[in-house]
Amino acid sequence: MDIKKIGVIGAGQMGNGIAQVAAQSGFTIVINDIAEEFIEKGMKTINKNLDRGVKKGRITEEQKNEVLSRISTTTEMAEFSDADLVIEAAPENVELKTQIFRELDRITPAHAILATNTSSISITLIASVTRRPEKVIGMHFMNPVPVMKLIEVIRGIATDDETTATIVELSEALGKTPVEVNDSPGFVANRVLLPMLNEAMYAVYEGIATPEAVDSVMKLGMNHPMGPLALADLIGLDTCLHIMEVLYEGFSDTKYRPCPLLKKMVAAGYLGRKTGRGFYTYE
Ligand code: NAD
Repeated sequence: MDIKKIGVIGAGQMGNGIAQVAAQSGFTIVINDIAEEFIEKGMKTINKNLDRGVKKGRITEEQKNEVLSRISTTTEMAEFSDADLVIEAAPENVELKTQIFRELDRITPAHAILATNTSSISITLIASVTRRPEKVIGMHFMNPVPVMKLIEVIRGIATDDETTATIVELSEALGKTPVEVNDSPGFVANRVLLPMLNEAMYAVYEGIATPEAVDSVMKLGMNHPMGPLALADLIGLDTCLHIMEVLYEGFSDTKYRPCPLLKKMVAAGYLGRKTGRGFYTYE
């Protein structure tokens, strides 16, 4: 594996986690975002996480400083001109991501792999705007990145074996467990998880049970660490609706129709934890 320098696009929730984990694994990182304020916010989160590691005795102060010294930041994508890999974690928007990949294709060296952390956009579609679709791949990290072990490695229609093997090896070097899947709406994680959350919403919508009751059944009966409705609140109900729509449209199959209650709650601005109200209320 010939990856030394990794560019990360987006210093948000996922991007700063990816940058932290990769820097802790010895890679040189450049984080790019559109404005300094977002970069500062991302770096603050990384600092806080590393400080927690020091307090808990998992790393030393010296190791923390070494990790930080491997991370630089920029608002200019041009800094990726010598990157071996770029992992994109910008907002979930097709126009934005295709624009970013066109730019990356122009800026990065010919050998560079271009990865996206998208949770629902087709890897094949993103790859199609570049002149190197064989080097474009999905690296779907889970939230929170420093804690969660899985990376769903998603092959687009043109992704080649060499690119996939490199990303599998890199994922292991990051201390994660890669699982290879093919490009398809929702990939595997969201295709299996979201219909379950949607069904839990139907149970509430149809008056079969309260949110508390549905969550208790799944926690106590199925040993899920968290009930599906509490999890939907954590993911964000707008994100849940968006993924159900991707499945519904992607397969043209009514079995993926979003629950009307979910649509109504999103229309009301009840988006879960982030707005203080979803299936539960939060202080
Ligand atoms: P976020 O909103 O926390 O962060 C996105 C960051 O990208 C922001 O800091 C924003 O300023 C920056 N940005 C916007 N436009 C940009 C541009 N043109 N160039 C560079 N940076 C830009 O979002 P997030 O939750 O980190 O999600 C990022 C991606 O990861 C999305 O595709 C999302 O679907 C995916 N994802 C999210 C989760 C999750 O649980 N949050 C899990 C898996 C995958």
